[in-house]
Amino acid sequence: MTEPVLTFTERGIYCPAGDFYIDPWRPVSRALITHGHSDHARPGHGAYLATEAAAPVIRHRLGEITLDTIRFGERRQIGRATVSFHPAGHIPGSAQIRVEVGGEVWVASGDYKLAPDGLCETFEPVRCHAFITECTFGLPVFTWRPQHEIAAEINHWWATTAAEGRHCLLGAYSLGKAQRLMALLDPEIGPILTHGAVENTNAVLRAQGYALPDTHHVTPDLDVKAYPGALVIAPPSALGSTWARRFGRASTGMASGWMRMRGVRRRRGADRGFVLSDHADWPELHEAIRQTGAERIFATHGYTEIFARWLNTQGYQAEVVPTEFGGEEDAADSAEDAA
Ligand SMILES: [Zn+2]
Ligand SMILES: [Zn+2]
Repeated sequence: MTEPVLTFTERGIYCPAGDFYIDPWRPVSRALITHGHSDHARPGHGAYLATEAAAPVIRHRLGEITLDTIRFGERRQIGRATVSFHPAGHIPGSAQIRVEVGGEVWVASGDYKLAPDGLCETFEPVRCHAFITECTFGLPVFTWRPQHEIAAEINHWWATTAAEGRHCLLGAYSLGKAQRLMALLDPEIGPILTHGAVENTNAVLRAQGYALPDTHHVTPDLDVKAYPGALVIAPPSALGSTWARRFGRASTGMASGWMRMRGVRRRRGADRGFVLSDHADWPELHEAIRQTGAERIFATHGYTEIFARWLNTQGYQAEVVPTEFGGEEDAADSAEDAA
């Protein structure tokens, strides 16, 4: 029997032919990284490879690392494997990783969504024999409305709250969701203020050329009264914190796919919940899988059991693969601290 292109080990997804790992969760000598979220880009690896577009954020978060970059679509030989990175549409720079060994092609999706968001590189389907897919929102209840409808909802909330002379405090994960919102919302309504965690990421992305509207960093000496009708974008954990008190009787909101679930908004203590996710919804997961043409599917990261069972009824050969993805971002949001 020939060796599989990718295998699943306790350190992460491993390619024997190239002796490298994809998004490993334990220190390894060579790691290919799909994107900068902390459950995928972890510290401690000997050498990193990521897209040119994802590299600045990964460097910003991990500090001094040995990081090599690759352009989207560029092919590189590693041992007996040929690898290339393709847009995943999840956050700026995020990639799916294609690995080819002896004519057999496997793709590891990382996190992805299909609908273009106007900020990050749009998802590109990649033909393969086997597809390792995330399924963070792999339940039929998760279907997203078009982004422009959600934008209109948030703009309306912002405009009416501003008219009452109050601030809007919007919880959104600091890498990806926050910037997507900035690019999406109507800056004519009022000024946009940002928490430090969000502003640091903004600075990295602006330096790369991603177009973001003007924002004002909320520093300790910033007088918030000088910004009436402002929308304040902060990580979800900051919403109920002492940091948030300076905004007085602000109206609070959360933007996340988890807002689709009853009770999550209330548990987060937000007045409003906006269903906006950087992950594929149920129909998008099926569409992405169909477009790969793959027969073998490995489900990771989310509602794996239910999703794999459904795929098996649809004629796919689907398996669940245990991973340690899901942590700081959207994926972990129902539990703790994300967007
Ligand atoms: Zn992610
Ligand atoms: Zn993830």
